[in-house]
Amino acid sequence: MTWQATVLTLFPGMFPGPLGTALAGRAMERGLWSLEARDIRDASTDRNRRVDDTPFGGGAGMVLRPDVVDAACAAAIPEGDARPLVFLTPRGAPLRQSLVRDLASGPGAVLLCGRYEGVDQRVVEARGMIEVSIGDYVLSGGELAAMVLLDACVRLLPGVMGAAESAEEESFSENLLEYPHYTRPAEWQGLRVPDVLLSGHHAEVARWRRAQSEAVTHERRPDLLTSKQRRDPAPRAPLH
Ligand code: SAM
Repeated sequence: MTWQATVLTLFPGMFPGPLGTALAGRAMERGLWSLEARDIRDASTDRNRRVDDTPFGGGAGMVLRPDVVDAACAAAIPEGDARPLVFLTPRGAPLRQSLVRDLASGPGAVLLCGRYEGVDQRVVEARGMIEVSIGDYVLSGGELAAMVLLDACVRLLPGVMGAAESAEEESFSENLLEYPHYTRPAEWQGLRVPDVLLSGHHAEVARWRRAQSEAVTHERRPDLLTSKQRRDPAPRAPLH
């Protein structure tokens, strides 16, 4: 079945953008997923097609109106549609691979992209939106964040990645970052590939990779580790 993405945005022309090329683009051509970008402005009943208004309580900027966003959701989500509704916002929970996996294993997703100061919180709550942030920085709109989320989901859909691009052993497939990669030549500018990788000894390679994963996660992302892993660090492997 086709995984269905609907994006609610003030800039539908930004889509599919980069999602129309490479892995995601080929998957779309093959019918493994579909993308519909809908203009939130089409839901405005204002004669000037306005979608925003000034914030109650004062302050700079404009806020997307709840009635307009609600009407845009109603028009985009047919009766019985089980897809989760995700609002991209810096106030949201950080995007994690676990959410990506959950979304990719479902029927698809409806994504709401904010602009200006954001969206009236009442419609976010009334519609039970999942609030998701792609990082601790502020973008000018939710469109690039929606593309990030969609790219992460689409690559996990059955049939999208070939054996050459397996997701089984990559960063976050457990709670670890991935080990480093090397390819030919075995020596480049005087720098040799770690000997173990040339040994042909699969168990040794697997052990070395695991140690590298644990070491880099301890060093760069200790927040990903369980408290037990944090207490009992793996024997330090030199980081490459
Ligand atoms: N006033 C908001 C705040 O301080 O949280 C920022 C609004 S931002 C200029 C406009 C829109 O960009 C947001 O409504 C959201 O949809 C999107 N956006 C910005 N940064 C984001 C992020 N880190 N993750 C997800 N969406 C983001």
